[in-house]
Amino acid sequence: MNISLSPKKVIHSLKKAASLPSTVLRYSYFLVVRSRPEPGVIRHGFPYKRQMALTFDDGPTPNFTPAVLDVLKAYNVKATFFLVGKFVKKYPEICRRIIKEGHEIGNHTYSHGNLLSKMPVQIRREIEKGEQAIVKVTGIKPKYFRPPMDFYNRFVKRIAIEQGYSMVLWNIRTFDSSISIRGHRHIISKIQRLAKPGDIILLHDSKNRIKNVMDRKATLKALPRIIDALLAMGLKPVTLSELLKGG
Ligand SMILES: [Zn+2]
Repeated sequence: MNISLSPKKVIHSLKKAASLPSTVLRYSYFLVVRSRPEPGVIRHGFPYKRQMALTFDDGPTPNFTPAVLDVLKAYNVKATFFLVGKFVKKYPEICRRIIKEGHEIGNHTYSHGNLLSKMPVQIRREIEKGEQAIVKVTGIKPKYFRPPMDFYNRFVKRIAIEQGYSMVLWNIRTFDSSISIRGHRHIISKIQRLAKPGDIILLHDSKNRIKNVMDRKATLKALPRIIDALLAMGLKPVTLSELLKGG
């Protein structure tokens, strides 16, 4: 839920959603509310360019990031990786490979905690520490910031902007972070059904959360077919900077 809406609007949205007859409708309602334009938050690029952006959150990890990079390389496709600072520190070589192969990196905080439970000073530290880890390893200060789990409020937004970031979320997610390998067909079909110019798609390249149940094998298995589908639709996957360039 977009809790940067005013409290009055949130209460109104909750009441409206609660009155809907099914969970699917209630969730869909929130997706619609959340996808409304909001100052300071980027959710998609320009619809008149036949481009879109694949974004991978929560890495780098040795389990999946190199394999994702291999697929992107095979297709000569560029993407954006929202990195978690503590993993950047742990796996610097993977970060350097991401840059070397022409992809973009974004700041996804240092420890991937819930920013809504933090004081402004802690939010600032999370973003700063994430940035420092990235700069130390790659020499690059990212342009884009994405709050973990889409949890943000006006403090998060204001602090990110003060630190020179544009906050970028997404407009298509496949819940690839919470499905088993059998779910790869779901990921592909969702993107096939929804993809259009300007989209920012959320995927993940992080390690297993629960062994053999929720991991990123489905994402990895789906990725070549996702790219095939996008290319067949005439949509070129590009980095966020490329997608958002020019207007
Ligand atoms: Zn995340």
